[in-house]
Amino acid sequence: MAYNLKDFMAKVIAKNPGEVEFHQAVHEVVESVIPFIEENPKYEHGRILERIVEPERVIMFRVPWLDDKGIIQVNRGFRIEMSSAIGPYKGGLRFHPTVNLGILKFLAFEQVFKNSLTTLPMGGGKGGSDFDPKGKSDNEVMKFCQSFMTELQRHIGPNTDVPAGDIGVGGREIGFMFGQYKRIRDEFTGVLTGKALEWGGSLIRPEATGYGTVYFAEEMLNLKGDSVKGKICTVSGSGNVAQYTIEKVNELGGKCVTLSDSGGYIYDPDGIDNDKLNYVMHLKNVKRGRIQEYADKYDVQYFEGQRPWGVKCDIAFPSATQNEINADEAKTLIKNGCICVAEGANMPSVPEAIEVYLENKILYGPAKAANAGGVAVSGLEMSQNSLRLSWTREEVDNRLKGIMKSIHETCVKYGRESSDYVNYVAGANIGGFVKVADSMMAQGVV
Ligand code: NDP
Repeated sequence: MAYNLKDFMAKVIAKNPGEVEFHQAVHEVVESVIPFIEENPKYEHGRILERIVEPERVIMFRVPWLDDKGIIQVNRGFRIEMSSAIGPYKGGLRFHPTVNLGILKFLAFEQVFKNSLTTLPMGGGKGGSDFDPKGKSDNEVMKFCQSFMTELQRHIGPNTDVPAGDIGVGGREIGFMFGQYKRIRDEFTGVLTGKALEWGGSLIRPEATGYGTVYFAEEMLNLKGDSVKGKICTVSGSGNVAQYTIEKVNELGGKCVTLSDSGGYIYDPDGIDNDKLNYVMHLKNVKRGRIQEYADKYDVQYFEGQRPWGVKCDIAFPSATQNEINADEAKTLIKNGCICVAEGANMPSVPEAIEVYLENKILYGPAKAANAGGVAVSGLEMSQNSLRLSWTREEVDNRLKGIMKSIHETCVKYGRESSDYVNYVAGANIGGFVKVADSMMAQGVV
């Protein structure tokens, strides 16, 4: 009996009501994988699809903490342990007021395939909280992180589940959580990645997602005899991924002209050079200010409440959040001559936008392939922690480049549709699926 996409999705939706982002992520993968399973029926007999959409474990917990006024605040904490088929659960923690079970299940599901593509032995997970670090003092962020980790610590460990950062979780938050884990467990281990260099972090980890996304774009362009050099790029977001995307584009000779945050976007037609980027890093990572301040400082236009996809570009790097490019925006990108979309953020394009990219056969690098560099270097951080060694910047960067190249090759292997067209969506989904599915088959009914 062959799978029917509609029937399969109807069951997933009935079993996971209201989790729209999770439905969206499952649909995107299953749509690509069903034709592959039809050619390889062993996966159907192994009921791999039915198993892979069900998290191995979901943990939800109360996170009470005292704010600076002495008032008790209560948030909700989550960890989704999606798949341990090929290694310990691995994936970031997101602190953002929009966080809910459906969003974290979508992210954990995506993570399974992404981690498989990296070639490293990492399963998939994701977690976080509806806590909003914005506007909180360092003391309040620390109190929250300590309370969050007081519960989470019993579920994680260097051989079990190794969280990292994501939206709202950077070096500061990882530090507070690591401190609390160590205090409760009395263990100095690689239980979190994204640590600072002095206490177990890896060189290039902060840069890895942005750099990796640009390396992936460069691979896609190279296959067409082209490169990032001389290209005009639009970037959304202004956090970790956006910042290091710009740094690498500048290094490769491209020009980035936009940045955004939840307030709006700035357009700098002269390009965001490294001096301006240093300003943005200080503004966002130290001062924790708004991107509008860039417009005031450099006398460029600020578009309140808008996204940057109307700006003419060759390459778009969505690097803020999920569903930030709709179908009309995708059409505008193509109309303005965009030849490449490389996703730094997770699931930034709605399904109808992806259809537009595929119909127009532009170079479209989906998140699970294009932004896998972050988790790949997290995997390298785990290796260094186990070895109790630190590799040099060049060594980690070369490994990152090699991994992005290999992810690109996997996408080409499973996604080539003709001599001059690669469907990277199918390539990434099938390429990520095979290793996890084969491991599940080998490990029996688990
Ligand atoms: P940061 O918290 O450092 O930055 C997030 C940026 O996106 C901020 O500029 C933020 O603006 C903006 N943003 C967040 N939510 C929204 C929203 N709902 N609407 C508009 N803008 C928004 O996060 P990262 O840079 O780490 O993550 C960005 C994306 O990259 C996410 O999708 C994440 O899952 C993905 N990713 C991150 C990895 C990593 O290693 N960090 C690895 C792989 C993927 P504001 O400050 O106003 O909220």
